[in-house]
Amino acid sequence: MAETAPPAAGPEDGRAKLVIRNIGMILSGKMEQPILDADCIICIDGKITEVGRGTEMDCGGATTTVDAMGTTLAPGLIDSHVHPVVGDYTPRQQQLGWIDSTLHGGVTTLISAGEVHMPGRPKDIIGLKAMAIASQRWYENFRPSGVKVHAGAPVIEHGMEEHDFKELAEAGVTLLGEIGLGSVKDGKTAHQMVQWARKYGIQSTIHTGGPSIPGSGLIDADMVLETGTDVIGHINGGHSALPDDQIICLCESCKQALEIVHNGNERAALLTLNTARELGKMDQIILGTDGPAGSGVQPLGILRMIAMLSSLGNVPAEIAFCFGNGNTARQRKLDTGLIETGFCADFVLMDQAQHSGGKTLLESVQLGNLPGVGMTIIDGRVTSQRSRNTPPAGRVPVIV
Ligand SMILES: [Zn+2]
Repeated sequence: MAETAPPAAGPEDGRAKLVIRNIGMILSGKMEQPILDADCIICIDGKITEVGRGTEMDCGGATTTVDAMGTTLAPGLIDSHVHPVVGDYTPRQQQLGWIDSTLHGGVTTLISAGEVHMPGRPKDIIGLKAMAIASQRWYENFRPSGVKVHAGAPVIEHGMEEHDFKELAEAGVTLLGEIGLGSVKDGKTAHQMVQWARKYGIQSTIHTGGPSIPGSGLIDADMVLETGTDVIGHINGGHSALPDDQIICLCESCKQALEIVHNGNERAALLTLNTARELGKMDQIILGTDGPAGSGVQPLGILRMIAMLSSLGNVPAEIAFCFGNGNTARQRKLDTGLIETGFCADFVLMDQAQHSGGKTLLESVQLGNLPGVGMTIIDGRVTSQRSRNTPPAGRVPVIV
């Protein structure tokens, strides 16, 4: 009666316990130790509680058990640069289901760089604030296929004052949309607004490079440096990249996240990677797609960037995966993207694609192949099984 044994985790106490066992390899998301010596993960109520050897862990009383069947588990991938509008619909390419399709590419978290494809997007200050707050709410209240969408990213316009950023922050806004997509195109004004945003805990990003579509403008290295955002948005252009010397200058000068996107210039992506590696700054590299956009949507965009950077950039695949989860988590201060106690139980389980080269998943990716996704899990719940979009995985996990 007075004995205080720790309560058993299981359905009897109402807690959700997920056990994932028989994991062939665990990728941690951490560049300093990308592969963990473990084969089992236990999660309670959607958070990671234990990582280790299944034979030494208390796997009883699970509400859900997944047999990973020897596949590889990684933190769910994070797309640092998307342009959502509403629900799982994008007016940009008039496409439904793009977020669900992205989940099938192993992505469990999306971060908005501005809801710029909203038809009739308000550009007056009260209107843009209202839309940002509404966007934040509708993705907080509705997760397409379970995917976490951090949205409500206002595009700054001339005339905004400090109190506007304070009001946005108090209303739940945590992000600015890409600077440069609105009327503010000078470094001095942009810097002031980024400072106001930062003061109230709002992260910022910037459109680096040439105009993306008619109506947007050029942002060069001087403007990026003067503005001082938390993320150098698409340093490899979206689509048009800056000249090489400016990209190198940004890599040398910046302590912020160096964001490489799928919808950018792939040669400039490799230049960024090689420069960051020479400078010992690979931990600043994060990945996005920049979709939906003129290039369409890229359900496999983050996996494609990992395979491209690993193969053409000669980066071990286990490090390239960190660009797509752990680095972004750390730069963006998220509670997902790393295998760590207390972090969200957001995972992707993968295996080497059938008939791809290489002896292992990592070798296959470093040869430029996509892995096959076999399952995704968000907040401890299975959100998808064998991917309909990746090449088929050799082995797929099963729910026991
Ligand atoms: Zn952009």
